[in-house]
Amino acid sequence: MGQLAPQPWMEAPTTKTVMAAITSTGVEARFVGGCVRDALLKRPVKDIDIATPLEPNDVIRLLEANGIHAIPTGIAHGTITAVIGKDHFEITTLRHDVENFGRHARVAFTDDWRADALRRDFTINALSMTTDGRIYDPVNGLADLGRGRVRFVGDPKQRIQEDVLRLLRYFRFYAYYGHPPAQVPSLAACRASAHLLPNLSGERIRGEMMRLLMAPDPAGVLTLMQAEKVLPHILPEAKHFGRLRQLAWLEDRGLRLEGIERDPTRRLACLVECDAKGALEIADRFKLSNRDRNRLAAICRHSQQAPSLAMSDGERRHLLYRMGKQTYLDRALIAWSSERDIDPRAPSAASGPWTELLGHALDWTVPEFPLKGRDALALGVPHGPRIGELLGHVQEWWEEGGFRADHAACLDRLRAALESKMS
Ligand code: ATP
Ligand code: MG
Repeated sequence: MGQLAPQPWMEAPTTKTVMAAITSTGVEARFVGGCVRDALLKRPVKDIDIATPLEPNDVIRLLEANGIHAIPTGIAHGTITAVIGKDHFEITTLRHDVENFGRHARVAFTDDWRADALRRDFTINALSMTTDGRIYDPVNGLADLGRGRVRFVGDPKQRIQEDVLRLLRYFRFYAYYGHPPAQVPSLAACRASAHLLPNLSGERIRGEMMRLLMAPDPAGVLTLMQAEKVLPHILPEAKHFGRLRQLAWLEDRGLRLEGIERDPTRRLACLVECDAKGALEIADRFKLSNRDRNRLAAICRHSQQAPSLAMSDGERRHLLYRMGKQTYLDRALIAWSSERDIDPRAPSAASGPWTELLGHALDWTVPEFPLKGRDALALGVPHGPRIGELLGHVQEWWEEGGFRADHAACLDRLRAALESKMS
């Protein structure tokens, strides 16, 4: 058992209100999972999970009796969400797993805190804490947390077979909390069960993989997943581990440029080797949102046309215009990461020019082609496809000239085009 000094999130009025409501009949409630783990490491606490022996219907009743909005999020598994303003609290009844069929574990509620800890995935996730900061540690999670050991509660192979999602969660938590080397029994169990991964839904795979990609150094863990023959079952396109390491470093610390930050879609694109069609296959497999799907495809479609320091200003502007700002930035960052990966000595001299290239792109606003259809009509071109053709011709010239020609110059060019076509 340990003791943690009260944290601001524990003392927050909304937390206190929820805790007071569900303990108002004298039944205990504790903080569990991520909030306890992160508070112990002095990392920011994202969401607050609470456990109690109270059954879900009683949790709802007590919340509502105290004027707190209660949502039966996963009532079959015993989870209720309490909402106060923008704060959400997940309250789960203590349980122990009775039988397991893949993700559909049959659960039974219990008042045994230890049994509840034993059904949790990793020792560092099995800690619980009272409202006054007393820590309960039934499976040695504290020591593991201190040493950066991500260990399954119980037999790793069995725990993965009960729920394959735990295999991906293992690597995700290892990316955030693990210190190498990883535990051999856990890795062996992951390797042995990796063929089960395709049974998971795309949404679940995406959820874990995108979070894993957001870790400070995802490349190390992904390399481990590759070595253990886990990654090919979900992402056979993964290839550029070194380049991803460089990108993650640039995004996090190497490059300090407002507007560039950690980005899971860019990191995914940086990791894989594929064209636009391959990107769409990944998007389908991971059930990516339309926005992420389009971005991934755009980055992969332009894999042969990266911005480079060898380009003139005009060429860069042209490419920027063609690719769009976002894809241009993504491709520039990936190109720079490749360069750093190939030659670790070159980069310091190149970082000034690369930063400048990115800075220009960030400040850039899309120039508007000065001519409209009415300009051609005014010169006597009749309605019809000719207008589009002529304007397209002038626009190409305007682009190649670095978008410098103004309305008058474009009009001259249009006149010249008309005359040459007529003569
Ligand atoms: P974070 O929210 O920072 O990702 P977390 O530990 O809070 O981390 P959640 O997914 O919110 O993770 O789950 C809360 C707790 O529920 C975990 O800490 C763990 O104890 C338990 N848990 C979640 N998923 C599983 C699972 N698949 N198998 C066993 N226990 C799980
Ligand atoms: Mg959580």
